[in-house]
Amino acid sequence: MTTNAPAYDAMISHVRQTTALAQAAGLLDWDQETVMPPRGASLRAEQAAALEDAVHARRTDPRLGDWLDTLDPTTLAPEAARNVTLIRRSYERATRLPAELGAAMARASSRGRITWSRARAAGRFADFAPALKEMLDLKRQEAACIAKDGQSPYDALLQDYEPGMTADRLIPLLESLRAPLSELRAAIADARAHVPQPEGHFPADRQLALSRLLAPVLGYDLDAGRIDLAVHPFCSGSGGDVRITTRIDESDPLGCIYSTIHEMGHALYEQNMPEDTLLEPRGRYASMGVHESQSRMLENQIGRSRPFADWLWPRFRDAFGAAGLADADALYRAVNRVHSGFIRTEADEVHYNLHIIMRTALERDLITGALEVDDLEDAWNTRFEADFGIAVPNATQGVLQDIHWSQGLFGYFPTYSLGNIYAAELFAAMRTQIDDIDGCIARGELRPLLDWLTGNVHRHASAMEPEALIEQAIGHKPTAAPLIAYLRDKFGRLYGL
Ligand code: ZN
Repeated sequence: MTTNAPAYDAMISHVRQTTALAQAAGLLDWDQETVMPPRGASLRAEQAAALEDAVHARRTDPRLGDWLDTLDPTTLAPEAARNVTLIRRSYERATRLPAELGAAMARASSRGRITWSRARAAGRFADFAPALKEMLDLKRQEAACIAKDGQSPYDALLQDYEPGMTADRLIPLLESLRAPLSELRAAIADARAHVPQPEGHFPADRQLALSRLLAPVLGYDLDAGRIDLAVHPFCSGSGGDVRITTRIDESDPLGCIYSTIHEMGHALYEQNMPEDTLLEPRGRYASMGVHESQSRMLENQIGRSRPFADWLWPRFRDAFGAAGLADADALYRAVNRVHSGFIRTEADEVHYNLHIIMRTALERDLITGALEVDDLEDAWNTRFEADFGIAVPNATQGVLQDIHWSQGLFGYFPTYSLGNIYAAELFAAMRTQIDDIDGCIARGELRPLLDWLTGNVHRHASAMEPEALIEQAIGHKPTAAPLIAYLRDKFGRLYGL
């Protein structure tokens, strides 16, 4: 879109090229995680660093400051004015951070990752503590540099993932989940139910074939995407090229199925944003929490529902045989098994948010200085036992399990639970507006649900702040109540509580 404001036109063309370069870097990442030959690694590191430098230089280009100074947003159309707001935010964020601090953080992040992975293998938090102290010190400095208008340090960091969110609203929202989930967890443990899992050998090619079968039903366009294998499943790209990866364990077919559904949820969001603004800030996703709401809803509210088991069961049986499961109901029970454990990424819907609430509280205390790294392992173990009812056996299954802090990702964890909260709100709203939603899911006719999500979430991209986007879609301010009701209802029935 061009306007009669030359400064705006020059600026948006600069920004579009920067985004295109950043997307090219994303493609190189995808390549590295999927098909790059092992000996390509060192050259790839150089290529990625060169692109990152170029993108950073463009994002801090002083001409952006000049263009922003000359522009009068009140003379612009609302769409252009929204771009200006988002460009100003990104430019101020980038230029507030001194270059030396940015470089120190990049070094600390790559070193931290290696130190963390060794410490995790050895199960010794003390081996990781010095690297984490260094990273935390840099993050506290970063927060002080980028904080605006009396913003708290944690709020300043949160903005990278969830624009507009503050700890004052976020923490009570997450904490309101804690007691209901702890009670539900304890009640399910007391029920001591045995839930059979699929048993047998599940060949990789059949798992992949079933993954591809999911695409047309869930609305993932394979002419604008592809499915490959990677160690950690992810989704990358936008518009006409949105790729997902999945993982395969030949003794457990459910990991592949549900990783695929989760990543397809992310992919739908990216495929359904308006094509003509994909390179503009207002045309990108609203926030990590909104992104996660799309993947979680497809994975849980839809993919782990009783009606979806009716659709999935005959296809599962065609691919693998019954695998020891009696019927669709047994498959439904198997995919919703609740079991206590220590690892977040393996957690079920009941335990998952308890992990996030705990990490959010701990990382916020680390940033504010209420907690120091030397006391982190004890704080983790005490809190874990209080929330989960089991004692952490070692640091590998405890404080060292996640990569996030080693890379300086503080403020990222809460977006997972925010995604769950938004998913439950959006699904509840959708249910009131679509007739026979369960029948649609059971028949694999998801079009009405996908159209609802596209109309209410995807096509708006970043036209609004994330909370406003959700509020507009559901008609009120989001709360945790629909998520609590959904989990109590579903697992109450499953476990006869
Ligand atoms: Zn996700």
